[in-house]
Amino acid sequence: MISNKKIYDLVIIGAGFAGLYSLYKAKLAKLNVIAIERASNVGGTWYWNRYPGARCDVESMQYSYQFSNELQEEWEWTEKYATQPEILKYANHVADRFKLRENIQFNSEIKSAKFNSDKNHWELINNTNQLIKTKFCIMATGCLSTLNKPKFKNIESFKGEIYHTGNWPHHHINLKNKKVGIIGTGSSAIQCIPEIINEVEHLYVFQRTPHYTVPARNKPLKYLKGKTKKYMREPVGYDNDLFIEEVKYNYSNFRLKAQNSVAAMALPINHQSALNVSKERRETVFEDRWNKGGVPFIAAFEDLNFDREANETAAKFVRNKIKSLVKDSHVAKLLTPDYPIGCKRLAVDSNYYESYNKPNISLVDLKTTPLEEFYAKGINTSKNHYELDIIILATGFDAMTGTLFNIDIEGKNNIKLKNKWSEGPKNYLGLASSGFPNLFTISGPGSPSVLTNMIVSIEQHVNWIFDCIEYMKNNNKNFIEASLKAENEWYKHNQEVSIDHVRSSCSSWYIGANIKGKAKNFMPYVGGYSKYVEKCDEVSKNNYQGFIFDVSNK
Ligand code: NAP
Repeated sequence: MISNKKIYDLVIIGAGFAGLYSLYKAKLAKLNVIAIERASNVGGTWYWNRYPGARCDVESMQYSYQFSNELQEEWEWTEKYATQPEILKYANHVADRFKLRENIQFNSEIKSAKFNSDKNHWELINNTNQLIKTKFCIMATGCLSTLNKPKFKNIESFKGEIYHTGNWPHHHINLKNKKVGIIGTGSSAIQCIPEIINEVEHLYVFQRTPHYTVPARNKPLKYLKGKTKKYMREPVGYDNDLFIEEVKYNYSNFRLKAQNSVAAMALPINHQSALNVSKERRETVFEDRWNKGGVPFIAAFEDLNFDREANETAAKFVRNKIKSLVKDSHVAKLLTPDYPIGCKRLAVDSNYYESYNKPNISLVDLKTTPLEEFYAKGINTSKNHYELDIIILATGFDAMTGTLFNIDIEGKNNIKLKNKWSEGPKNYLGLASSGFPNLFTISGPGSPSVLTNMIVSIEQHVNWIFDCIEYMKNNNKNFIEASLKAENEWYKHNQEVSIDHVRSSCSSWYIGANIKGKAKNFMPYVGGYSKYVEKCDEVSKNNYQGFIFDVSNK
């Protein structure tokens, strides 16, 4: 399908949610477009992350596109939090409904993207050495799409099976009567452990740092299905007893609430400070949020993300819950984090802590007994040998920049993105980087991205990019890039807003701490989604202030 003769108007790299919507917009704009996808089908992160228990922790009624009213009216989610198979089915439905597949080249991985300054176009090369030329390029490559596979000593000597949660096989993995080890206790492991514990003979959880998690309280969604209802209630977000028809009836208001929020998500926010209420009141609010479930726990009080003392009240509440839920007090202690809650991304679970009360689970504390090496039959820590049939790496991702760096991206004057960003990802609004004309990143570092409901953020970015392309067409502009000044100021602002935020108060993938040798910078924009959108809109209204058009490409 790829043509190496023509020069495309646009090449989109990736066919996850960002790639699919970009493709939809490109076709609407009648651009000569192709999307290149390394997988054999659409879905991006939901194509790869098919480990047992994988599901989204943003409500399905919000974790879905809003660009098409018909689509959001006709699609029927079945659970409050959709499972990975259901989300993948949705992505496939979108691809079919909008006839997007005809413009996607599957099983094709872009290896390099170089700007040809003589010919003024991008030249991309894929894994089969095909050349693809294009005027514009959109990196819809995802934020969590390059695996973090730590170089464990002698890993190759292990004779059993090894799987990574982020690249789970498409066939069924039989865990019955198997001794399984799982390394890592982040969101992926927290979802996976309660699922597989019911299958395995014994599960060894190798934990380096405990993670905070709150119960999801997932449930099937309720449909009226013709039953009459006296009135239609207004959804707040994360309401447990609303009928779907009520949400759909009020969908535009519901979506507006998300647009005006910090995390692009409608959820109940309590504007009180945790420190300005009585201890009893505070406990009641936390208890209520804990019982309702999900990420609204962290919005129980307005200052949990900014004030360490306020944050500590929420952290203490969860620590007490761990104590009450995990029967073995030593295990409970090991599972209890000592850093601020919400620094590492708050996980949402179904029976995570309860899993540790099962007879067939052992928690291995890597802090006191470090993992030394793999061997033919399993894992050696400084204290024990663990014989294992299967090892699951739930060790996360080289987030936000990993996939961009895997592609050899070279802009004007032979500047490589990897070198330009060696001390941290510098760009303007997370959308474009100086020296890389007509190359856009979706939900890249420098944008709210992973701190938000990703689908809302993706749609905002894609809309902005296509408005910009339209503006360029109408104003006879051929090239756009961020100005160095705007990008330096944005980067500075990005770092400033993160300093006092709880998210930058511990070592996490947000700051690249999980990857050896990676620059330590806070990558996503933590200033809030609605403020960010205001800034993007202001920039476009002011003829793309901070961007420069048609400067020499040499
Ligand atoms: P993660 O949060 O980065 O967790 C990785 C885990 O592996 C951590 O416990 C980490 O320990 C451990 N680890 C890494 N290297 C290790 C090593 N060399 N030795 C021992 N342990 C090691 O990765 P994740 O769980 O895949 O989640 C990543 C992100 O994906 C999440 O934050 C979230 O944004 C997204 N996600 C979302 C959902 C959802 O929507 N429900 C589900 C899954 C994932 P340390 O903490 O000590 O580094």
